Order: sequence, then C-alpha cells, then structure tokens
Amino acid sequence: MTLADRQEHLQFNQAQRDAFAADLATHLALDSARVRRDEPMSSHTTFRVGGPADFYIEPATPDELVAILKLARQHHLPVTVLGNGSNVVVADRGIRGIVISLGQPMATIRRTNNCLVAGAGALLSRVAAYAAREGLGGLAFASGIPGTIGGAVMMNAGAYEHCMADVVHSTRYLDTDWTERIAEGPELAFGYRTSLFKGTDRIVTETTLCLKPQDPAEIQKEMNDLAVRRRTSQPLELPSAGSAFKRPPGHYAGKLISDCGLKGFAIGGAAVSTKHAGFIVNLGQATASDVAAVFNYVQATVERETGILLEREVLFIGDWD
Ligand SMILES: Cc1cc2nc3c(=O)[nH]c(=O)nc-3n(C[C@H](O)[C@H](O)[C@H](O)COP(=O)(O)OP(=O)(O)OC[C@H]3O[C@@H](n4cnc5c(N)ncnc54)[C@H](O)[C@@H]3O)c2cc1C
Repeated sequence: MTLADRQEHLQFNQAQRDAFAADLATHLALDSARVRRDEPMSSHTTFRVGGPADFYIEPATPDELVAILKLARQHHLPVTVLGNGSNVVVADRGIRGIVISLGQPMATIRRTNNCLVAGAGALLSRVAAYAAREGLGGLAFASGIPGTIGGAVMMNAGAYEHCMADVVHSTRYLDTDWTERIAEGPELAFGYRTSLFKGTDRIVTETTLCLKPQDPAEIQKEMNDLAVRRRTSQPLELPSAGSAFKRPPGHYAGKLISDCGLKGFAIGGAAVSTKHAGFIVNLGQATASDVAAVFNYVQATVERETGILLEREVLFIGDWD
C-alpha cells in the first residue's frame, strides 16, 4: 500500500467510526462512561498489555447488546466480545472496531432453589462467594479464577479437578442471528477448555449453575485453602493470563517448559515465571510483542527438545498483522 493509499484508508476508517458514533448516540442512551473511543486495552486485560480499541462499549442488557451488534454490522465494524480480559493478549496496535465488554452492568446474581442464575458479566469470585454465603457447594474451585461467567463458560474454565461443565445447568445466549436461545446438557458441548461458544460469534448472556447444599463455613474453608495453594504455586503478584499453554495429554506444560531450562527466560519485559514455568508474566514494561515472542520461543524450544507441540490456552486477539 502506498502512503497516499494508506492515508485514504485511514480517513475512510475515521469517517466510518464517526458515523457509527453518531448513530450510536442517536439510537442508544448510553452514558459516556459506557462508551469510550481509543480505549487502551492494557487497562482492561490482566496481562496489562495491548493498544487501543477503536470503541469500548459496556452494554447493560441483552437488548442493548443486540442494538450495538446491529449498528456495528450496519457500519461494517468488526466486534470483539470480552469479559474480564484474563485469558487474552491484545496486540500492541490494539483492536479495530468495537470491543463489547460484558462486565459489571450485566453482573446480577440470584438464587432459585439450589441454583444460581448469574449474568455473563459476574466475576467468578463474586459468584463463588455468593454461593458460599447461601450454603451452596460445588463452585469453590472457581473462586480464584479471575474471569467472568461468560468467559468461564466459553472456555470451560477449570481448576483442581473441576470445571464449569460440572456445575453449569443451562446457558442463555445470543445466537449468531441475534436470537436469544438456551442451551443445556450435551448441547453445551463442553470439552477441555472449549464449549459450544468457542470460536463462534455466540454470546453468553446468563448462566444457571446448579449446586449442592453444603455448610457455608466448610465452603469458605475450601475456598481459603485453594487460595493459599494458588498464592503458593502461582505468580499472582505479576500480570499474566494464567496458564499459557494447554496441558498436553500425559504431560504438564509447566514441567516440560521447566525441564527445557526456560524458567526465567525473558524477551523485553515478558518472561517465563520463575515461580511456575506454566505462566508467562509481564515483568512491568512488557509489550504484547514481547509476550508473543516469549510464547513463540517457548513453543519452538519445547517442540525441538521433546517433540511435543504446546497449544496456547491464552487467546491472542486484535490487530497483529
Ligand atoms: C492469575 C490467573 C489465573 C488463572 N487461573 C485459571 C484457572 O485456574 N483455570 C482456568 O480455566 N483459567 C484460568 N485463568 C484464565 C482465565 O481467567 C479464564 O480463562 C477465564 O474463564 C476467562 O474469563 P474472562 O471473563 O476474563 O474472559 P476474557 O479473557 O475476557 O475472554 C476470553 C474469551 O472468552 C470470550 N468471551 C468472554 N465473555 C464472553 C461471553 N459473554 N460470551 C461469549 N464469549 C465470551 C472472549 O471473546 C474471548 O475469546 C487464569 C488467569 C489468570 C490471570
């Protein structure tokens, strides 16, 4: 692309974004705190890296969500959905189009019988604490996972031999045609870090978790014990996105990486954690490119040394090209 072509392209994008912003203001009464332009994604991801999203919008209801999706399509702007940004690395150039953040405005939690119905934006830590207070057991495993219900269902997040599939009864979601649907049981297609929602444009809006009555003090103790285990074994003091790679069948990614002598290996501000080799961390000033370079180096080294190709668990999103 010549410089003139590039300038024309940028001007076209700017006009397209201005038109979207004007339409959004006309059709939806969102206060300015819930619609931001050129929003740095390093402020919205646990890795603390990533450039600006053209638009960062926080809908408060499924209807608002649909209205934003419709406007985005009308203006040919791509959409990226995020929860708490705890399983992603956003490119240094950021994310073109619209980031829809399902967070606090869609975070209601209510009890019906022995089930909790939680909005997609509810943090797992809050849902687990709510369950403990209500004397509903089965969610302690999730109390230390720093994601939202939406992100956790999408990833089938899990820890300590349990995962979301064990407790999710049904999930309400927006299908790709923007119709609200409910999936339950085998329809949810849960597998290791995957579900019906992975790799699709379906958006989780609410999930029903069915739990078992248990003494609140017992649940609290279980959560405290797991928190100690996490603090002792994981580098929670540094920004990261949790386990960098999936567990290869019959192995542990952290042990393979450690056995290859990669603990502490660093490029720029990103490094393999010295505390747990399964984590890649931001030492403070990492760029997304540093993080990607460490991921690639680790992957290539482990494959060369062991013949095992590690698969990323963390998702790389945004403008990487
Ligand atoms: C310190 C630390 C520890 C961690 N420990 C664990 C662990 O023990 N077990 C574990 O499984 N993970 C762990 N993680 C990773 C992460 O917290 C989980 O994968 C979590 O479920 C991601 O949720 P999120 O809301 O942050 O999703 P995001 O990172 O915001 O998004 C992840 C993916 O989910 C999609 N998504 C988000 N919300 C929705 C929605 N409503 N509908 C459809 N798609 C959606 C996004 O598009 C993206 O593709 C850890 C991360 C950190 C930083």
